[in-house]
Amino acid sequence: APLILWLRQDLRLSDQPALAAAVSEGPVIPVYILDDEAPRQWAMGGAARWWLHHSLARLDESLRAKGSRLILRRGRSAEILAALAEETGASRVHALRHYEPWWRNAEKAVGKTLDLCLHDGGLLLPPGAVRTGAGGMYRIYTPFSRAVMEHMPPAAPHPAPHRIDGPAHWPTSDSLEDWALLPTKPDWAQGFAADWTPGEQGARANVADFLDEVGDYPTARNLPSIEGTSRLSPHLHFGEVSPAYLWHRIESSGHDATIFLKELIWRDYAHVQICELPVYGSENARRDFDALAWRDLREAGGDFTAWKTGRTGYPIVDAGMRQLWTTGWMHNRVRMIAASFLIKHLLIDWRHGARWFWDTLVDADYANNSVNWQWVAGSGVDANLFTRIMAPLTQSDKFDAADYIRTWVPELAGLPDGAIHDPDAHGARPAAYPAKIIDHREGRERALAAYRHSKG
Ligand code: FAD
Repeated sequence: APLILWLRQDLRLSDQPALAAAVSEGPVIPVYILDDEAPRQWAMGGAARWWLHHSLARLDESLRAKGSRLILRRGRSAEILAALAEETGASRVHALRHYEPWWRNAEKAVGKTLDLCLHDGGLLLPPGAVRTGAGGMYRIYTPFSRAVMEHMPPAAPHPAPHRIDGPAHWPTSDSLEDWALLPTKPDWAQGFAADWTPGEQGARANVADFLDEVGDYPTARNLPSIEGTSRLSPHLHFGEVSPAYLWHRIESSGHDATIFLKELIWRDYAHVQICELPVYGSENARRDFDALAWRDLREAGGDFTAWKTGRTGYPIVDAGMRQLWTTGWMHNRVRMIAASFLIKHLLIDWRHGARWFWDTLVDADYANNSVNWQWVAGSGVDANLFTRIMAPLTQSDKFDAADYIRTWVPELAGLPDGAIHDPDAHGARPAAYPAKIIDHREGRERALAAYRHSKG
């Protein structure tokens, strides 16, 4: 009997333990189910759908080159898999384990009616593999990271199978075009293709390119004006490359890659946190933050729009928000600055910002997005202090963002380095660029007052 390979955020053929297991047992039916019902409010956002479309197209090509193909179905995962098993006589479902709360629920539902075989491989270590002295899960990043490091390197990655045999009769598949994952009018994704090559091959090419740069990462990663980071986040989110493969390639680069590998461990850390607290994306991990009086969007809606559209009058924030809109990605340092600005200077609930990122990031990831937003807000399990308020203009100068601003805020392209971070202060603001929607000190004081008030 054939085996079903249920693909989700693991769209690769190499180092894919679920695929390897299925191939070793018989003919394989690879299926991707577009399930918008399981995640409900966390259904994939627009930018991620653009990525998904291209990643699925590439995966189908790779499968066909090995004698297989990708079956596409749409609906509730458990129902679709049950129907597919019935149609094809499949005896078992192989899948990689995923930790988003809706995937864990879906796995439970599938396991009730089918023989579901779950494999690890989406993280460096499955949650629970390292535990505190008391036997619990780590809640703080630094000791977690230290414990993970002791188990590294991960097991050596497996190559893709040479051939993937299919069933005598293939089940029908939806057409990818019919899923309408790509934007039509307006086509806001025009800028995406210039930056990204979704799919396993693109991911591996990206890893290879980064090997030469990993030695510079410790300093380059903080400078938004240069490409100092790997830009692997969407590839990792969609599982086009396994973290174990990445780890081994990076270690073979001959550079000291510790700082980079520690960033990769943040991804594992975030996934452990959503296992422990599945509502991490919608509720304050520290409940004392429930008392914080965020500004109501009915009053602050104009400020929120200015933030989303990159018109706050803070060049570094606006550059980041425009980079996000145009390319589906934002530099990490700028994500922190832009998020902090929304939460503190504008006193807008982090959840509104996280939702915007969810819809606009190609790497939108429930664990990474939720944990990082709450880290910036101060409401996370391990978090920055709310009262430590980033000064966006100082950050912009300190991390040399002038060229970054010139790229994304063309109204300011003509300004010299000395004035570009804060055109207002230098009397250099062109008419086309908005004045600051809030003064730094005023925003800071308002945030601190709201925080003090929440503490009673
Ligand atoms: P690199 O610096 O090259 O890092 C390599 C990989 O390590 C990344 O691809 C990512 O998988 C992982 N990583 C690095 N930093 C972090 C981090 N702080 N937390 C978790 N994993 C990390 N990352 C996402 O993948 N999806 C998100 O939805 C997301 N939302 C974020 C929201 C905010 C407010 C902030 C401050 C950060 C967010 N991040 C998110 C984390 C980080 O900004 C991105 O992972 C990183 O910028 C991706 O670029 P890169 O691949 O070049 O990173």
